[in-house]
Amino acid sequence: MYRCFGSLLPRASLSGPWASLCGTRAYSQAADSSDDPNFFSMVEGFFDRGAAIVEDRLVEGLKTRETQEQKRKRVRGILRVIKPCNHVLSVNFPIKKDCGEWEVIEAYRAQHSQHRTPCKGGIRYSMDVSVDEVKALASLMTYKCAVVDVPFGGAKAGVKINPKNYSDNELEKITRRFTVELAKKGFIGPGIDVPAPDMSTGEREMSWIADTYSTTMGHNDINASACVTGKPISQGGIHGRISATGRGVFHGIENFINEASYMSQIGLTPGFQDKTFIIQGFGNVGLHTMRYLHRFGAKCVGIAEMDGSIWNPKGLDPKELEEYKLANGTIVGFPNSTPYEGSILEADCDILIPAASEMQLTKSNAHKIKAKIIAEGANGPTTPEADRIFLERNVLVIPDMYLNAGGVTVSYFEWLKNLNHVSYGRLTFKYERDSNYHLLMSVQESLERKFGKHGGAIPIVPTSEFQARVAGASEKDIVHSGLAYTMERSAKAIMRTANTYNLGLDLRTAAYVNAIEKVFQVYNQAGLSLS
Ligand code: NAD
Repeated sequence: MYRCFGSLLPRASLSGPWASLCGTRAYSQAADSSDDPNFFSMVEGFFDRGAAIVEDRLVEGLKTRETQEQKRKRVRGILRVIKPCNHVLSVNFPIKKDCGEWEVIEAYRAQHSQHRTPCKGGIRYSMDVSVDEVKALASLMTYKCAVVDVPFGGAKAGVKINPKNYSDNELEKITRRFTVELAKKGFIGPGIDVPAPDMSTGEREMSWIADTYSTTMGHNDINASACVTGKPISQGGIHGRISATGRGVFHGIENFINEASYMSQIGLTPGFQDKTFIIQGFGNVGLHTMRYLHRFGAKCVGIAEMDGSIWNPKGLDPKELEEYKLANGTIVGFPNSTPYEGSILEADCDILIPAASEMQLTKSNAHKIKAKIIAEGANGPTTPEADRIFLERNVLVIPDMYLNAGGVTVSYFEWLKNLNHVSYGRLTFKYERDSNYHLLMSVQESLERKFGKHGGAIPIVPTSEFQARVAGASEKDIVHSGLAYTMERSAKAIMRTANTYNLGLDLRTAAYVNAIEKVFQVYNQAGLSLS
């Protein structure tokens, strides 16, 4: 029923697509020699690429009395500690279906790193779930959290089901039973491991998880509701979490599309106004990304879904499409579009946004992609070989570990809200509003003292921007500004690293370098014993 294991992988030489991108220093054979390795090897290979670049600086940066050789050993040791997945829980549990039959459900939770706790990462329901997939996604979460300075280790869970084949009652049973399995094995808890939504899960599933945990293992824990994020507001959720990943994708693209130096390298002009985009996957991430890009002037010309693709060179409307999908359960047949024959990923557009599943852009289609910007809304959509091809072709890839970090960023805000037991703005709201009115009044009085009131009272008219803020920041305002700030600060850090290491358009390696440096410092300063 239950297996839990950890491993440290040996160091060996790089081969395949990694070798050409990493120079001569090498970390692992996990990046296997095939052009498109399995998902976990793929993430390990990207890690190796970053580690190879940053190793010398990490050695130089060590302020210890060790010899150079000892320092290098320390750095390489810590890098080897960072890379593997620390724990993987594998469970099989029975549920009784509505028809009276029994079924055994297969599920996993991987915890990649406890360098910071709790671990954090989504739960997905999909038939593609495997040990390899959850390990890869958990390790990506570690690096993603580090890139955006969210103090969590990485984790991920997968339940191997097609949710469309189960009733709501059965899905509830599966979710609650999986929560109990996680709780029994120490794989959930506000200070241990905190799941969130991912593919085919949302507020409803998070609500079942919170309820199950807080009425069983967490019944005497005042922080029990912080065991999961992405909950409905009534269960301790936070405003803005549902759309957070898509909003983050928008900010992430915004930070690069407004940089003239990057745009001139790929032959585009800065700004969203004249840009077209295509999205793969019209789910949580795809829908909200479309909404924000559309709002800021870009035009969605195509969407790919599992059962078909739609196309309209004049642009698709997000609201109309959302309503059509809600009513019909599909985007296919949307009135203001035509069906697209062939792979819409290869159609004409400026920005391609994979927002479905991993390994969609591979060596077999990377040459044919026409977009100049690949914005990775999904986790792991680009294989190493495709990544190499995009770099060669001067295509800007904005990597997943930065671009879709809006979800975990706002999950962090939700977790903090739960631990604080108070919503954002609650304590300061009135004070802020009163202070702003006092400020306006004191400006008015000062002017009247100086110039007199002969022509009547001097009116102080706040600008529309100030008027909108005068009443103090709501929780939504705080979440949105916290998210925008996080995405901007992390983008600047990635750009700085790309410049420092002369990485050109290779933002993925720059992001890995940033993540590795931060995780490394935690292990190193914690006084990790490597003996
Ligand atoms: P979702 O289940 O809400 O939506 C995914 C959509 O993609 C579905 O509509 C599905 O039918 C479609 N799809 C799946 N495979 C497809 C394919 N091959 N071609 C076309 N369409 C396909 O899932 P989501 O939460 O939007 O997650 C999408 C991706 O974003 C995943 O990689 C996930 O790990 C990543 N992500 C999600 C979040 C989040 O907060 N939900 C955060 C970070 C990253």
